[in-house]
Amino acid sequence: MDYVEIMVRHGELSTKGKNRMRFINQLRRNIEHVLAPYPEVKVRSDRDRTHVYLNGTDYQPIAEALRHIFGIQAFSPSYKVEKDLEALKEAVQTIMTGLYREGMTFKITTKRSDHTFDWDSQELNQLLGGAVFEALPEIKVQMKVPDVNLKVEIRDDAAYLSHEEIKGAGGLPVGTSGRGMLMLSGGIDSPVAGYLALKRGVEIEAVHFASPPYTSPGSLQKAQDLARKLTKFGGNIQFIEVPFTEIQEEIKEKAPESYLMTLTRRFMLRITDRIREERKGLVIVNGESLGQVASQTLESMQAINAVTTTPIVRPVVTMDKLEIIELAQAIDTFELSIQPFEDCCTIFAPDRPKTNPKIKNVEQYEARLDVEGLIERAVAGIKVTEITPKAELDEVDELIEGLL
Ligand code: ATP
Ligand code: MG
Repeated sequence: MDYVEIMVRHGELSTKGKNRMRFINQLRRNIEHVLAPYPEVKVRSDRDRTHVYLNGTDYQPIAEALRHIFGIQAFSPSYKVEKDLEALKEAVQTIMTGLYREGMTFKITTKRSDHTFDWDSQELNQLLGGAVFEALPEIKVQMKVPDVNLKVEIRDDAAYLSHEEIKGAGGLPVGTSGRGMLMLSGGIDSPVAGYLALKRGVEIEAVHFASPPYTSPGSLQKAQDLARKLTKFGGNIQFIEVPFTEIQEEIKEKAPESYLMTLTRRFMLRITDRIREERKGLVIVNGESLGQVASQTLESMQAINAVTTTPIVRPVVTMDKLEIIELAQAIDTFELSIQPFEDCCTIFAPDRPKTNPKIKNVEQYEARLDVEGLIERAVAGIKVTEITPKAELDEVDELIEGLL
């Protein structure tokens, strides 16, 4: 027997009052995006559930994909059976025989939404339970916590049988909290920060600063690949590449080395904020972690943050590096992040950046630069690409290609 449908239980939605349908529709769209590599699969939502119809697609990769999508509390794959007592008996026998091991307990829980069906739930529990005993005389019934709770739902079109419930990722459907701009480098921290923002329903657009020819196409590709890894939690991500070469060269030429980093970060933040405004984002998300490097002391954060009043969400700010790495491994970005590609910041990084930059000095050095012109040219030169999820199979193919 093959699964035909997966019933998805919504996460924290019930607390959201009249926004409920908005949440559910967003979740449905996200599921459709993530499952786009499987064109046969169809998704439909009602107030209580979302239904994923497999239409012949393998169950395993779809289940694997659903496990990552935020806003899903749990899901159950189900079999579809003709609404006929003999067919139902045969189905429960086949399913239970497949699951049986010694000492197993079970119960049958029938729900009937089609009230014209010849038997009511109580009678069906008895009849189908009896059929299971016929096939497996040793099996025991257990009402409280059975090993297998075989659920039978009599709907209008057919009967649906399920016995597993798989835990989902929880969180909120991506997009239900509004949009944020994720400053995405090729490092370990910012993809994790992005993941955590996605978890609470923030739709992220990835802003990446590239300084060709100092940074290579490989380094850009790496950032895009990281963004693609993040699509599995809620769907497509807009990737915004910002040309940063001119700004870095200008700063290098006109400001003292100890302030390069602070000035560079201030430009990044201003540009990200400008892009955010144009694209109707509400917040900026970055991967800063307190004390990790010179740019991440509180004094530095203050000097850098001073260019905007836009809220900056720093999901990993209080996490230890090892904790961040653990998460990076769990979301499968770590191996990509540690690939040795230059980042625009590392190339121009001074040996001894200031850990306590003074705003007064910063402003004095910036007065030597055409700040507004530099920002405008960078913003005018952005390139936006839509990053879409990939089927698991594609990834395997690529791995194999990589090995050849
Ligand atoms: P990450 O691992 O995220 O690169 P990091 O520990 O290397 O972080 P920094 O290099 O100081 O820290 O960067 C701090 C934050 O600034 C990053 O987490 C990221 O949000 C942002 N950032 C750094 N470089 C870039 C870049 N090239 N493009 C976009 N954002 C960047
Ligand atoms: Mg970095």
